[in-house]
Amino acid sequence: MPDREAMELAALHEAAARAEDSIRPRALDEFIGQDKLRDNLRVYLAAARERGRALDHTLFCGSPGLGKTTLARIMAEELGVGLVSTSGPVLERSGDLAAILTNLSRHDILFVDEIHRMPMTVEEVLYPAMEDFQLDLVIGQGPAARTVKIDLEPFTLVGATTRMGLISNPLRDRFGIVARVEFYTPEELARIVQRTAGILHISLTPQGALEVGRRSRGTPRIANRLLRRVRDFAQMNGTASIGVEEVAAAMQRLDVDSHGLDQMDRQILEVVISQYGGGPVGLKALAAACSEEVRTIEDIYEPYLIQNGFLKRTSRGRMATGKAYAHMGMLMR
Ligand code: ADP
Repeated sequence: MPDREAMELAALHEAAARAEDSIRPRALDEFIGQDKLRDNLRVYLAAARERGRALDHTLFCGSPGLGKTTLARIMAEELGVGLVSTSGPVLERSGDLAAILTNLSRHDILFVDEIHRMPMTVEEVLYPAMEDFQLDLVIGQGPAARTVKIDLEPFTLVGATTRMGLISNPLRDRFGIVARVEFYTPEELARIVQRTAGILHISLTPQGALEVGRRSRGTPRIANRLLRRVRDFAQMNGTASIGVEEVAAAMQRLDVDSHGLDQMDRQILEVVISQYGGGPVGLKALAAACSEEVRTIEDIYEPYLIQNGFLKRTSRGRMATGKAYAHMGMLMR
């Protein structure tokens, strides 16, 4: 890629990250929804603070954009400790992780996104680190090799994963707190976009907020993104306040339907129904028919379609439900 293009792309990513940062809740009180998880975290954080100990290692599992990174940042903020962020695919060699671990300060939080994509050799470095705050370093090779133990500062590992099933048992067992981050209700998403609208000085009616909430696939990141796009359309049309009609019109242009399903969601249902007679169809065949990667379908699209009763996972593959047929305007055979 030419340098200029790469720089422009990097600038775009940075701008997106900055935009996301400005609306990210910084305290547990600003975090909307996930009531039970939030209440539990409040207790764990208070207890760790009172004991003067590092918080237990915590694993968050849930679809992309539900707030796992946000929670890790809030935990560091509320504990008044440092936060170091990395991700599974970035940690290619055990030395990469060892370098990060030895640089942590007392009680810091190490956030590892997509922790299920960490190579096994790296994962094994984590076991003694998590359990005893120790690093086993092998020095030398062959018969002369020996292991040296290095003490680490007590720290808290916060892992995030979209796929609990891909976390090995030894790793999962080392987390004291394992929590699932669920999809949000339309009402919770409405509160989230109202908050965002306030920060971004967007005038949004309560009904408009609820309409955005209904169409956001249960996901705050999508809700905030749709809100920005709706604002663009409203601005160009000279609309001062955004209500249901403005949201509906913008969604039509964005190809987001009344249930919040986007083009790919509908394509998946269409393939299962039209090409495979409603299923069952295997994930690989489905991904190929949609020209999409298996992992993207599995991580991003399928969980919401299953949770909302459009798709069923069976031992023989994915099947479309009656709700999917009705939504796509097709007759069930
Ligand atoms: P994940 O790490 O699960 O992919 P993030 O923590 O990056 O998701 O969240 C995506 C965006 O959604 C963030 O910018 C944040 O502002 C917003 N967000 C997520 N959860 C909440 C919440 N509970 N309340 C308000 N905003 C949220």
